[in-house]
Amino acid sequence: MLEKVLVASGGVLGSQIALQNAVHGKTVTIYDISAEALAGAKKHIAAFKEQLIKDTGKDANEVQQQVDAIKYEADLAAAVKGVDLVIEAVPESFEIKKDIWTKLSAAADAQTIFVTNTSTMLPSKIAAVVDRPAKFIAMHFANLVWAHNTAEIMAHAGTDPELPAQIHDFAKSIGLVPIMIKKEHASYLLNNMFNPFLTDGLSLWYNGIADYQTIDKVWMIDLESQAGPFGLIDIVGLRTMINVLKATGAEEDAKIAEKLQTEFVDQGKTGAVGGEGFYKY
Ligand code: NAD
Repeated sequence: MLEKVLVASGGVLGSQIALQNAVHGKTVTIYDISAEALAGAKKHIAAFKEQLIKDTGKDANEVQQQVDAIKYEADLAAAVKGVDLVIEAVPESFEIKKDIWTKLSAAADAQTIFVTNTSTMLPSKIAAVVDRPAKFIAMHFANLVWAHNTAEIMAHAGTDPELPAQIHDFAKSIGLVPIMIKKEHASYLLNNMFNPFLTDGLSLWYNGIADYQTIDKVWMIDLESQAGPFGLIDIVGLRTMINVLKATGAEEDAKIAEKLQTEFVDQGKTGAVGGEGFYKY
């Protein structure tokens, strides 16, 4: 079984993934690039822990003990030693993913299995830079992992044919519903439908068709939803939304990404976890 898990790194998704593993009895280490980034990961864990307890009704004392057992490490080679499974959740940039997977390939034990949480890249693109493509697969978590508990599992042509089933069982062992993808597809199932919804909402706002509160309002009333595209962008996090926009290759999306960077992220408005995005939290 896959029991010792390294999560790299502790951003919005990484901290949620670490938490989900910890409360299902896994031995968890979070790697991040600096002491400052690890302090940020601890803050994420503290905030998401409260939400997990609220959403799942788990015993607060027990969860606290499991959270206290999470280890934090800024030395990647030390962090990956003796680990069964690495789950990578670094920013959605191929250069950053390439860099960390090259380092992990050099430092990890031969039997360690590698999983990426990339939202938009084909696993085969990242597999090309790892030393063990047969042990490499994508497993895509959804934001608020314990509540939106799907794991979209997608192999590439060089993945060991037995690995999807092993990751399927691992997903179940941490309380997730495994969703098996038959073919490589850059945005899986959920994001293939969800990302155009967010970018279409942004386009309406960017072109001055309506303000973002109004765009959210019509969606929430008519689709009986708790949030519209801008409320959801805050949950996703504006940094990740910028990377999604850049990845589409569309000219307008690049302009919207720039606007989100200068008018939001550079002003400290990074989304719900940071306390403010389009809305205040
Ligand atoms: P984030 O910006 O919140 O976190 C990224 C983390 O990576 C931070 O802790 C940061 O310190 C660290 N980091 C920065 N530079 C690094 C480097 N050079 N090497 C190693 N670590 C570095 O991002 P996120 O939203 O958690 O997204 C992480 C991954 O998860 C992305 O691939 C994203 O597409 C995917 N994902 C995100 C969501 C979402 O809703 N946010 C959902 C599913 C999957």
